[in-house]
Amino acid sequence: MHKNRCWLFSVFFLVAAPLFAQEPIPADWCRALPRPEYKSLERVRVSDPWFEVYKPAPNVYAIYEPHQAEETIGYLIVGEKRALEFDTGMGISDIKKVTAELTKLPVIVLNSHTHDDHVGGNWEFDTVYGMYTDFTRQNAKGSREDAQAEITPDQICGTLPKGFDPQTYATKPWKMSAYVHDGDKFDLGGRTLEVIATPGPTPDSISLIDRANGLLFTGDTYYPAPIWLFRPETDIDAYAKSIRRLAALAPQVKMVLGAHNIPVASPAVLSRLVAAFEAVQAGKVPASPDSPGKVLYKVGDISFLMRAPTAH
Ligand SMILES: [Zn+2]
Repeated sequence: MHKNRCWLFSVFFLVAAPLFAQEPIPADWCRALPRPEYKSLERVRVSDPWFEVYKPAPNVYAIYEPHQAEETIGYLIVGEKRALEFDTGMGISDIKKVTAELTKLPVIVLNSHTHDDHVGGNWEFDTVYGMYTDFTRQNAKGSREDAQAEITPDQICGTLPKGFDPQTYATKPWKMSAYVHDGDKFDLGGRTLEVIATPGPTPDSISLIDRANGLLFTGDTYYPAPIWLFRPETDIDAYAKSIRRLAALAPQVKMVLGAHNIPVASPAVLSRLVAAFEAVQAGKVPASPDSPGKVLYKVGDISFLMRAPTAH
């Protein structure tokens, strides 16, 4: 997940929106679109206007959802024999149809973690891999609350897809085909992806590395926007270890591909991420207040949204 929900804006809409039957004023994140970084990426046209697809590397498709505030990005990574879909987005529109337009090969799904904005299309696929954690198994049962919070007016930019029903919108349950563990490898035919357990944001957070092509898919462990580390399931010490592990891989990496906002970053960001987080943990970074109970720590272009320290 990636950016602060504007809680004041949400409250305004809940309380006042029925009084004004007008178009909502676009939120700041929506006015900032399109993000300039996309100009340098190759775009691939697909039929569903809810998604934008870009090709950051050969046979790698970033499936981006710019009309919802998470700006989630799932990655379809294509080999010679099969493809792997790393996250299935919000479940607001039909991501399986998009993957079918991009490849005819069988697609297996693996999630970077199981927050609602990354698993929304899981139910559509026959083969879904997941980490063996209680958190994963619980989320696979589906839920309504987190999904509903994603479609308040301040969270949507433009229009929702035709046929989308906000009343019934929920994360649908999915069936786990098999479990994965740290170090497991997926042979896609001519391309191998290796699972790197990177717990922290959630107990089931993973990254994927394609060593031969120098690609590191970081899920929510790194993306170029405030990194969400405030949820009850977040483990700060585990996160510190996970990002150090990723930073150690930097010499083998040419491109870092995160799960929100912008699909490409330089591997140099990994050591800056570690340094920024160490500075936060050492108490060297001032906390700026955010929505209730949360604070934002900002070090250059890297920021973390965390629980507000409790007074002693
Ligand atoms: Zn996320």
